[in-house]
Amino acid sequence: MKITEHIKKANGNTQFSFEILPPLKGQNIQSIFDNINPLMEFNPPFIDVTYHREEYVYKELDNGLLKKQVVKKRPGTVGICAGIQNKYQVDAVPHILCGGFTKEDTENLLIDLDFLGIDNVVALRGDAVKSETYFTSEKEGHQFASELVQQITDLNNGNYLDDELQNTSKTNFCIGVAGYPEKHMEAPSLESDIHFLKKKIKNGADYIITQMFFDNQKYFEFVDKCRTAGITVPIIPGLKPISTKKQLNIIPHRFKVDLPDELVMEVVKCNDNKAVRQVGIEWAIKQSKELIAKGVPLLHYYSMGKSTNIEAIAKVIF
Ligand code: FAD
Repeated sequence: MKITEHIKKANGNTQFSFEILPPLKGQNIQSIFDNINPLMEFNPPFIDVTYHREEYVYKELDNGLLKKQVVKKRPGTVGICAGIQNKYQVDAVPHILCGGFTKEDTENLLIDLDFLGIDNVVALRGDAVKSETYFTSEKEGHQFASELVQQITDLNNGNYLDDELQNTSKTNFCIGVAGYPEKHMEAPSLESDIHFLKKKIKNGADYIITQMFFDNQKYFEFVDKCRTAGITVPIIPGLKPISTKKQLNIIPHRFKVDLPDELVMEVVKCNDNKAVRQVGIEWAIKQSKELIAKGVPLLHYYSMGKSTNIEAIAKVIF
């Protein structure tokens, strides 16, 4: 079932959903199920699974030269989605990227998803490869998520890359895209970022999921600006509970989002990460309650591979 249909069906009640990462290569899928199991009692209508592109690793050879290797540390997004749908009978939503994919690769991936009965995707550009500063697309790939959205919409209309194909089957994907209440790190302004966000909607995206934010006011202002710009699709807030002291530096650096002073000071006062985790849970509960009071359709939690703090929040909220 499409995410937009889940939202309609809930009739104004806020639902619970979450995002997981595939395990590191070498681990098995049970580690994922172990994280999902405790969260199923809160009836998520869907579970997102992130996609992790290739990285370049340099291995030293006996002669002292370096050999460049391309590795995917967290493969398995599609397999995990199929496993989730099969085991739990809930919708799994794979994230799919422009980065590392030609248009042909994307078409073939979408065909696989369609055949597996997966009819939701989140379409993203992806970041630069870790060792590079700027994002570059494949020669025959997409530069921006809006182009990827257009390709999915084309397939939903039965238009494949080979325009000589006849009597083609239409896919039926519901398309989510990313939105940034504090603007995307490369965008010159929030206004410009919303301008391009609108292009993703115009090209066929059905809903927006936001980057994490820790100050609800930023989300409310973002939604107002999107509505003023003529964006009418659901805007699902994404929440991440802080769980370690290190994240005070990592989160602003990696995701370019601000942490409110009050939250920072609470974390600084903690003697260990157990206490930080509790602060993170309480902060996310406070955020969740206020967002529900404002009638958000869903609360989407970033689990980053650990579910115990999400479970503690969901126990209070859902
Ligand atoms: P885009 O929408 O293409 O935007 C990228 C930048 O380009 C923005 O600054 C935008 O303003 C600008 N822009 C857009 N169109 C144009 C244009 N036509 N001309 C000029 N500028 C333009 N990354 C992963 O690798 N795997 C994941 O699973 C993943 N999941 C995510 C889930 C969510 C909810 C979010 C918020 C992010 C996720 N990311 C993931 C990170 C994401 O890939 C990065 O933030 C990436 O840098 C941007 O992706 P995007 O889809 O927002 O890009």
